[in-house]
Formats: sequence, C-alpha cells, structure tokens
Amino acid sequence: MSSSTFRDQADAWVIRALQLAARGARGILINNHKQNAQQIRTQVEALAPFFTFIGYDDLKVRLNSTPGKKPFCLMTFDDGKAINATETASELLRLGVPAVLYIVTGAMGSEKAFWFDRLTALRTAVGTGALPGYSELEAIPWRVREQTINELCNRFGVEADLLDPTVRVMSWDEATRLQRDGFEIGSHTVNHALLTGETPEEARRQIEDSMKHIVQHGLRACRTFAFPKGRSSHSLVEIALSAGLESTVSTAPTWVRKRDALASLPRLYFKEKATDLHIHTKTLAARAGCLLPNPNREGRRYLFGT
Ligand SMILES: [Zn+2]
Repeated sequence: MSSSTFRDQADAWVIRALQLAARGARGILINNHKQNAQQIRTQVEALAPFFTFIGYDDLKVRLNSTPGKKPFCLMTFDDGKAINATETASELLRLGVPAVLYIVTGAMGSEKAFWFDRLTALRTAVGTGALPGYSELEAIPWRVREQTINELCNRFGVEADLLDPTVRVMSWDEATRLQRDGFEIGSHTVNHALLTGETPEEARRQIEDSMKHIVQHGLRACRTFAFPKGRSSHSLVEIALSAGLESTVSTAPTWVRKRDALASLPRLYFKEKATDLHIHTKTLAARAGCLLPNPNREGRRYLFGT
C-alpha cells in the first residue's frame, strides 16, 4: 500500500470516528496564531463538515443551550501578529468564518518583536549553545525576560525580522479595521506576561491595563481574555472576572465540556502547517481527552504533539 493510500485510509477512519464523536457535543474553540490564507483555509475546510463556525456573540447562547445538530467551533488567534490583519482576516471573511483576535496591547505597532521571536532569530544566527532555552526564559518574570533578551540581542547584534508579518505585531489601525469587519478583539495582556509566574498585583495590572488600552484606542470594551501560553489558575480567572471580563480562554486541549462556562474555556492548539489528517486526529483525540482522569488545572494537558 502506498503511503498516500495509507494516509487517505487513516483519514477516512478518523473522519468516521469524528462524525460519531461530534454527536451531542457542545463545541470547540481553536487556538491559532499566525496562519496564512492557505493554512487557515485548510483548517476551515477540515473542520467544516463537523462543526458550525460561530462568532463570539453566539458563544454564550451556545454554551447555555442543548447541543444542536452540529457542535460549534469558535476560531481564536493569539498575539495579534500582522499577518492576521494583512492576510488571514480577509480569507476568513471570504469563507464566512468569524474569529476572536487576542492582542498584546503594549506590543501593538511596536518596533520590537516578541521575546520568543527574538530568541528564534538569535538561535538561527548564533546557534543554541550560547543561549538560554525557551522554557528557561519562560520561567522568569516578564521584565527580567525582556532585559535578558535585550542584552542578548545587543551582544550578538541580532534582531528578529520585523518585515515578516508573522513576526511583526499589528497596529492599532489594523485592529480597528478588524473590529469594523466584525472580528472580536480580546486581550492577551500588556506584555505577553505569563501570569502564573508574576505576582497577583502584576497579573491584575496586565489584565486591567490591557483592557484600558483597548478602550483608549477607540475599540469597544474588551470582553474576553486569553492567558499567554495558557498559563491560568483559578485565582487568575477570578482576577480577570473581577476586572470586568466575561470570559477567559486557556489551552486545555479538550472540547467544551458540560462543566465549562464562559469564565474559563479550553482551546485546541494547531500548528500553522497542520494537515487535514493532523487536524482531524487531534480534534478527535481532544474529544476523548475529556474522559481522561487527572486533568491539568493549568491547562497544560497535551495528549500528543502541539
Ligand atoms: Zn501568546
């Protein structure tokens, strides 16, 4: 059997299983980042047979009603990369698929890339030997992390390529246009701080100030929040709700379960280059995941790959 035939047969089996899995289910949220037009089209086409794509406004209704014929799918994009504004959004509009974009308000239109993109540029330029790893830098508070990455970029004379729309962060004008086109703009903190590694005061500031920035730049009041890297906790959800948000999303890779409410919703993460088979398989596995014991309350439970 050729490998493409094998792949087709595997996909056919997964599709049948997914059709069964979708019966009576409430829905899923997808956690995307910098998919281009073709990549988002692949994802939409892979999911369309099983799900109804909804916008943020329909989420509350769908969570509170008996599951319909088809479960819902809400697309979300984290980090506010420019490609979302220059390429992804117009493809989503063409396909009639709504989405939520979670922006990092302190980085909007910035001349500096996110630390993880700068670290990627450094690793490409000078190799990994002289550099800290991603998880090492994730473990420290955001101010120290920024300082560390600034020093490294200066020392090696390396910067991330801001001409690349998958690196550059969108501008406020671009976010305003996206909102005008019907996309929901949510918060993803001021500095992409991983809130479980910050003090409660700093976590509150990251949430409240980002909400203020959104209004100050003429956008509608922010209703929803995505925890960077999905690092959330019960007390952080409480802080978000007390700041006036109505929903938060993490990266717990499961379908929306009966016990899930707007306050804290799981999301499935897909890599930009995910194929049909990968999208189908991961979505199916995430459905089974809600039956598994030992759920990780930090939303870090990955069944396989990312
Ligand atoms: Zn992020």
